[in-house]
Amino acid sequence: MRPTIPSYGTRSRNLRVTVRSRYASTSTSKADSPAPAPRRNRWLGIALVTAAAGVAGAYIRSQDPGSATLNQETFTKYSLVSRESVSATSSLFTLRPRIPSGGNYDVYENAWRTGIWSVMFKQPQLQIGRDYTPLPVTSATPLTVDEENEGYLRFFIRKDPFGEVTRYLHNLKIGSDIEMRGPKIEFAIPDETQDVLFIAGGTGIAPALQAGHCLLSRTTENHQPKIHILWASRRREDALGGESDTPEAPVSQKSWFSGWFSSGNNSPSIGPVSNAPNPAKSLIVKELEGLKSQYPGQVTVDYFLDEDNHFISKKHIANFVKTRPPSDGSRKGNLILVSGPAGFISYMAGPKIWAQGQELQGPVQGIIRDLDLKGWAVWKL
Ligand SMILES: Cc1cc2nc3c(=O)[nH]c(=O)nc-3n(C[C@H](O)[C@H](O)[C@H](O)COP(=O)(O)OP(=O)(O)OC[C@H]3O[C@@H](n4cnc5c(N)ncnc54)[C@H](O)[C@@H]3O)c2cc1C
Repeated sequence: MRPTIPSYGTRSRNLRVTVRSRYASTSTSKADSPAPAPRRNRWLGIALVTAAAGVAGAYIRSQDPGSATLNQETFTKYSLVSRESVSATSSLFTLRPRIPSGGNYDVYENAWRTGIWSVMFKQPQLQIGRDYTPLPVTSATPLTVDEENEGYLRFFIRKDPFGEVTRYLHNLKIGSDIEMRGPKIEFAIPDETQDVLFIAGGTGIAPALQAGHCLLSRTTENHQPKIHILWASRRREDALGGESDTPEAPVSQKSWFSGWFSSGNNSPSIGPVSNAPNPAKSLIVKELEGLKSQYPGQVTVDYFLDEDNHFISKKHIANFVKTRPPSDGSRKGNLILVSGPAGFISYMAGPKIWAQGQELQGPVQGIIRDLDLKGWAVWKL
């Protein structure tokens, strides 16, 4: 069971109650057994001064904005600007620093240039934290110059009915504070990287967008890196309007989660997401298309839907890898990144492991090991 630590608000409320009851019990005892007045007054004075100091401290703490610049040591307060529904189970959160700080620009910029990064949100009542991945700014859903300067951040967050932090985040009122710490670099994309195959499950698409943003921002006349994204979603709504760039991609009927949540399904494929009758596009599809139009010819995306029994298979990975020139042997030119729920990562590349109090990559297993790919480095996020 998780520890519950009272928030500052709770402490100050208790404090006021305590003061009142002490005062009351003092009055009662006065009637019953009179004590020497000066001594009682002294204790009463001490109690009142202590209480006043406590209330003042609690007030100051509640007003203390803390650090205005995102940093790894302390939690920085952000305000929830908006929460737009992407589907029944996911939302786009927009946050801005509660206090504008010029320092955020450099902090973000350094992280964007390095690779894939996350921040930790705090759930203040339970004093627990969870990691979330800021979305890069694309032409599809741009921020205004003022918003960018103010250090706005956006997140694609899945709502989990049993999840402590996602439930908290989805219940917050607009304007509420969210405290976060970071950035934490999850993976520094090597400068030499030429080709990335990004295999994403669910909200694992957020790191894929970051990888695309970082990799492609290094484009020059002589260096034209490319990224191919395979994105598996459970629900059509999340990937609504997404059109696969490999329409002839063979359909796999074996799901990464078939061994976890279901007994598998052999019904025929309904086809790619582009066959969806509703032409509207989900926010994430717009983000992916924004990246494509910003870097023509350097981004391709294939969509997979559990709902349609359309799953990422060995063939999708092998067919893509075949099309790419072999790496020069440095193993840094070609990169496979895998991101998503633990079961998804495990199915694709084997589980990450815990050793000596930290999470490690563990050996490459799963369907990627079966493919025995030469010249491709693999990283699990
Ligand atoms: C580097 C990194 C980046 C991430 N980026 C994102 C991101 O951008 N967007 C995003 O949405 N997520 C992201 N995540 C995942 C995120 O950090 C959380 O793990 C996720 O939001 C769930 O947290 P939670 O506290 O809501 O769920 P938890 O309370 O931790 O629950 C975890 C799981 O256990 C199940 N569970 C808990 N209690 C019960 C119960 N009583 N009965 C049955 N099941 C139960 C929940 O259903 C849930 O599936 C990222 C994770 C990492 C490591």
